[in-house]
Amino acid sequence: MSKQKICNRCALPAAFPGIRFNEAGVCNFCQGFKGAGGEATKKAEYRLKFESLIDQYRGDSTYDALMCYSGGKDSTYTLSILKEQYGLNILAVTVDNGFISEQASRNIRVVVENLGVDHIYYKPRFDVLAKIFRHCASNDIYSRKSLERASGICTSCMAIVKYSTLRMALEKDIPLIVYGWSPGQSPVTSSIIKNNPGIVKMMQKSLYDPLYRVAGNDIRPYFLEDKHFGDTFRFPYYIHPLAFLGYDEETAYKSIARLSWKPPGDTDANSTNCLLNSFANMMHKRRLGFHPYVYELSNLVRGGYLDRDIALARLAQSENPEIISKVKRKLEIEAD
Ligand SMILES: [Zn+2]
Repeated sequence: MSKQKICNRCALPAAFPGIRFNEAGVCNFCQGFKGAGGEATKKAEYRLKFESLIDQYRGDSTYDALMCYSGGKDSTYTLSILKEQYGLNILAVTVDNGFISEQASRNIRVVVENLGVDHIYYKPRFDVLAKIFRHCASNDIYSRKSLERASGICTSCMAIVKYSTLRMALEKDIPLIVYGWSPGQSPVTSSIIKNNPGIVKMMQKSLYDPLYRVAGNDIRPYFLEDKHFGDTFRFPYYIHPLAFLGYDEETAYKSIARLSWKPPGDTDANSTNCLLNSFANMMHKRRLGFHPYVYELSNLVRGGYLDRDIALARLAQSENPEIISKVKRKLEIEAD
């Protein structure tokens, strides 16, 4: 992996699907990048849109927003903004995949206490999750396209997070679902999404079907069922505030330190909450030849949110063997 050609401007390597380099060693993704010029206007526009949604829905239901709260730095930062700057009444939900680092668990408890928000831990059956993670470690069950943006393990875990929290929001009639996606994960133009049953049904199917083939009916509680697509439920908006509010890792770290959030020492450089991430990254790199975070980090570099050298260093970091063997033991995967 290390000997691969890498774009001179971002961090995308030669193994990335569909990549081409010009004579200057700049990739086609960078050549097509329109620059950060129109970004500021777009951000301001989406911020206003967000604020008018808040005005429209505040106090309309028991909670104004459901925050998908991993306990990592980005979702902690987002949660603090929703509560402290916008005064929203929030239900924070953490889906426990069995691999939340101990420091991340402490962070979650102390942050929700210090901010004063209600919080739920939702823990799907570990035997079901383990079966899925084991399978995804060595098989690609999703489209090539989705593997460009995340490992199959991450995609499976996120599918369960996404649809189990959507189900909760529907059943509790919460009008807004908020994620702490970085601007590298969510561009401004998709940072506010109005959901409708038809699109949700189609999107869910693309994840549900592959997972169903691995784990069968056991995954049913984590997804919407036919009844949810009827007229009874109000579909919430998806909102990714960091895409339009601006983002700077240093500011985020400083801001959440006030809430006694501490960086976990036991996760990899690309996660501040999940131990499984290291293992998922390693298996993805082995099979596909590129890091599952390279797309996001390259977006951040191109957008001016992150130094290229920092991105490259983060991508080059090798997995901590202790974390890897801990994960393998818990998933009951034999050593290779
Ligand atoms: Zn590039």
